[in-house]
Amino acid sequence: MGSDRKELSRRHVAELEDIVGKRGVRTDPTARSAYESDAFMLQRATAEVIVLPRTTAEAAAAVKVLREAGLVVVPRGAGTGLSGGARPVENGAILGTARMRDVLEVNAEDRYARVQAGVVNVHLTAACAGAGLFYGPDPSSQTACTIGGNVGNNSGGPHGFKYGSTNRHVLGLTMVDSDGEVIELGGPGPTADGTLDLLGPVIGSEGMLGLVTEVTVQLLPRPEKVETLLCLFESLDACCDAVSEMIARRLEPSAIEILDRLTIEAVEASVLRAGYPDHAEAVMLVEVEGGDEEVDATSADVIEVARAFGAFDTRRTTDPAERKRLWAGRKGAFGAMGRIAPDLYVADVVAPRTRLREIVSAATVACRERDLKLANVFHAGDGNLHPNISYDRRDADEVRRVLEAGRIIMEACVRAGGSLTGEHGIGLEKQDEMCLVFSDDDLAAMDQLRGAFDPSAFWNPGKMLPVRGCREVHTRPLPVEPSTEPTDAQAPGGSR
Ligand SMILES: Cc1cc2nc3c(=O)[nH]c(=O)nc-3n(C[C@H](O)[C@H](O)[C@H](O)COP(=O)(O)OP(=O)(O)OC[C@H]3O[C@@H](n4cnc5c(N)ncnc54)[C@H](O)[C@@H]3O)c2cc1C
Repeated sequence: MGSDRKELSRRHVAELEDIVGKRGVRTDPTARSAYESDAFMLQRATAEVIVLPRTTAEAAAAVKVLREAGLVVVPRGAGTGLSGGARPVENGAILGTARMRDVLEVNAEDRYARVQAGVVNVHLTAACAGAGLFYGPDPSSQTACTIGGNVGNNSGGPHGFKYGSTNRHVLGLTMVDSDGEVIELGGPGPTADGTLDLLGPVIGSEGMLGLVTEVTVQLLPRPEKVETLLCLFESLDACCDAVSEMIARRLEPSAIEILDRLTIEAVEASVLRAGYPDHAEAVMLVEVEGGDEEVDATSADVIEVARAFGAFDTRRTTDPAERKRLWAGRKGAFGAMGRIAPDLYVADVVAPRTRLREIVSAATVACRERDLKLANVFHAGDGNLHPNISYDRRDADEVRRVLEAGRIIMEACVRAGGSLTGEHGIGLEKQDEMCLVFSDDDLAAMDQLRGAFDPSAFWNPGKMLPVRGCREVHTRPLPVEPSTEPTDAQAPGGSR
C-alpha cells in the first residue's frame, strides 16, 4: 500500500493545489508538526495534509478530493480547544479556516453579521463597534479563537452569565457536508418557517457533522453603562458562598468570575499584571451593565452580599482603562500559569451554583493527595469551574496523577448534578467520562444523529462519543497511562 499511497497522494495534492493554491496545501513535516495537537497537549497525531481553503466553494471542492483520496478530515479553527477536538486523526487531513477571515456583512439595522468561519472572535466585535454593537460570547481566548471553533464547541466566556453561549447567538450557518455539498441552515430572517431547525445539532458538534464555512450571528447593542467590581476575600470558600447567595437573590450582573490565590500570584507576576492584591485568598470580578440606575442598584447589592460574606475590600470602576486591565488579568490567567509549570491541564466542569465550594474542595483534596499544584479560575456565575492543574508532560507519573485528579473532579461534578463540560467540549479528553452521564442507549442515539449528517464518519472520527462501550469503560482500571505517541486512526481516544 505504501508506494500506491504516495502515488495517489501526489495526484491529490496537485488537485488540492489547483483548488486552494499552493500556499493552502501543506504536506511538509514542519507544517504538519505545528498541527499535531490543539491546546490539549497530551494527545498528538500527525495529519497527512493540511488544507486551508479561502471560500466555501474551495472548501467544498477540497472535500471531494479528500474523500476520493480516502482520507478522513478534522475541521480546525485556531486550535485553541482544550479537549483535543481539533487534534488530527493519524494520516487524515486537517481542513482549517485560517485563511477564511473575512467579515462579509455587518447589518446594523437588523443587528446581525455574516462572517467567514475563520474570523477571530474579537475581530467580529471590533468590526461592529462603530455601529454601537457587539458580539456576545467572549471566550478568554477571544483574541485567537475563531467563530467556527466557537460554533464547534458551543463556546461561552465570562459574560456567558448574561448572554449565554454561542448557540444563543447563531442565526444561520453555511456548512460543507461529507459529499462536498454546501448546506445552508437558518439565516438572519425569521426561523419559524416550517423547516426543521438543524442549527441545534450542529452547534457544539465538535466538527463531527461538517465544516462550517460561514456563520450569521446576532449582534447586541452596547450597554449604556458598564461597571466592573473587584471584591477581595480572605477565603475562597467564602467567595464561593457569596456567589451562591448572589444567585439565590437573583442579582443580575453580566459576569461573576473568581480567581484563587495561586492564580492571582501567577497573573501579578506576569506581563498582564492587573493590580489584584496579592494578599487576597480569592478575587471576585463582577461586571454590571445597563442604565445608570440599574447599574448602581445591582452594584450596591453585589457589594452588600460580598461584604456580608467577608469581603475585606471592594472597588468599583467605570474607567475603561482600569476595567480593561482588570479583565486582561482574568483573560490571561491560563497563559500566566505558564510561570508555574510548562504544561497546564484546564479542567472544565459545571456544578449547581449552590455547590461551588464543595467542588472546589473536592478538587483541592484530589490535587493535594496527588502532590499536584491546583489553581482555580472560574465562571462562577454559571457554575462553570476551571480547576487548573500545572504539570510537566515529560513526567509520566505526574501526567497519570493529573488525569486521575481530573477524573475525580468530573465525577464529583456529575454526582453533584452538574456536567462534564461547560464550554471546552468533550473531544478526546472526556470521551470515556461520557459514560458517567449517558447510557449506551443515549450514546447510540447521538451516534445515529451523527450518522444522519455523516454516514461514513468522514468528519472528525473517534472524537466525543466513546470508542468503547460504557460497560468496558466502567470496568477499566483507573487511571490509564496517557500516550504521547500518535494513536490509531480508528481509536484516537483509546490510549488515554
Ligand atoms: C487560554 C485559553 C482560554 C480559553 N477560554 C475559553 C473560554 O473562556 N470559553 C470557552 O468556551 N473556551 C475557552 N477556551 C477554549 C477554546 O478557545 C474554545 O473552545 C474555542 O471556541 C476554540 O476555537 P478554535 O478556533 O481555536 O477552535 P479549534 O480548537 O480549532 O476547534 C475546536 C473544535 O471545533 C471544531 N471546529 C473548528 N472549526 C470548525 C469549523 N469551521 N467547522 C466545524 N467544526 C469546527 C474542531 O474540529 C474542534 O472539535 C480557551 C482556550 C485557551 C487556550
